[in-house]
Amino acid sequence: MRTHVGEVLALFREHGELSRTEVIDISGLSRSTVNQRLAALESAGLIAEIGGGESTGGRPSSRFALNRSRGVLLTADIGATGLIAAVCDLAGSPLRHRTVRVDVWEGPERVLGEVDRAFDELIEGDLVWGIGIGVPGPVEFAAGRVVNPPIMTGWDRFDIAGWFDRFEVPVVVENDANSRAVAEARPLRHDNLISMKVGTGIGSGLVFNGQIIRGSEGAAGDIGHTRAALADSATPLGCRCGNVGCVEAYAGGWALVRDLDAAGTSVEHVADVVTLVRQGDIEAVRLVRQAGRVLGDAVADLVSILNPESIVLSGQLAECGEVLLSGVRERVYQRSLPLATRNLTIRVSKLGELAGVTGLAIITADQLFATDRIDELLERIG
Ligand SMILES: [Zn+2]
Repeated sequence: MRTHVGEVLALFREHGELSRTEVIDISGLSRSTVNQRLAALESAGLIAEIGGGESTGGRPSSRFALNRSRGVLLTADIGATGLIAAVCDLAGSPLRHRTVRVDVWEGPERVLGEVDRAFDELIEGDLVWGIGIGVPGPVEFAAGRVVNPPIMTGWDRFDIAGWFDRFEVPVVVENDANSRAVAEARPLRHDNLISMKVGTGIGSGLVFNGQIIRGSEGAAGDIGHTRAALADSATPLGCRCGNVGCVEAYAGGWALVRDLDAAGTSVEHVADVVTLVRQGDIEAVRLVRQAGRVLGDAVADLVSILNPESIVLSGQLAECGEVLLSGVRERVYQRSLPLATRNLTIRVSKLGELAGVTGLAIITADQLFATDRIDELLERIG
């Protein structure tokens, strides 16, 4: 019978504050059942009564909401050249975070060791309920492992979830672009959204009908290693995955660093490219505009096929704003079907660098609060 507890909790996660009457109306459950479920959730501390509320016959009726500070979720968004670790509340909001510069190809022991250190520094006597780890490669979600990552040397099938055994809580491992897609889609209740992460590398996350599309092997959305349209007319460039003509080889942060360096501008990191664009450097602006067109070409067919309501860009290069967006918009509106772009918005993420950790927290909470798992949680928190 406890599954109903999960269903009622899900209403609060979706709608925010609700009165008893609203829960009855939305769920279709009887008043007595709702009373029982609310009492169970309240006694477990998962929901709490909040002040104010609608008035029925002069007496204000109480309203309830998810008790977002009952426990915390630890999340780490691992990128190619750095990671962000965060303590998040149960609604997914980052409370404290820390940035660490470390290259992902230094291997899992080194990188996850940095995550451990960051977690230890961030935890302030919090009750840890779950852990979410984001990685820049394809993920076998059920097993919590990376599979055949093109750039993550030493990570193939490494037991990432097992690394965090000492916490004795569920660990979710997710692709970085997928976690961003959820962070953008869920709060706005956008059920159909494409998120593009444009940092050192390029990835995309697809949320459709409210669910992440992972594909049968976890490889869905790896747009950075699809063939760039530009490769047909320009010199086919080598990619770090070993292939030639990939989208990343023209539009990834590492490729722009390579091109600016070849043009005689001293740059080392993607952040330097962003700085140059902000300073109005002509070559940097030209290259980022072209990168936008390459991305637009890459995503245009997806727009025609899947008909998302929005495309959201995040990652370090997205900090170039309009310079990058204009190229994406140009190609998508040129090449996608008119009906598919009629109400499409293409924008930069407002969550900035915290998009990844936010999405990871939401996905971890989804697992903890899933109707078939909530018993496990209630037992654990006593
Ligand atoms: Zn490639």
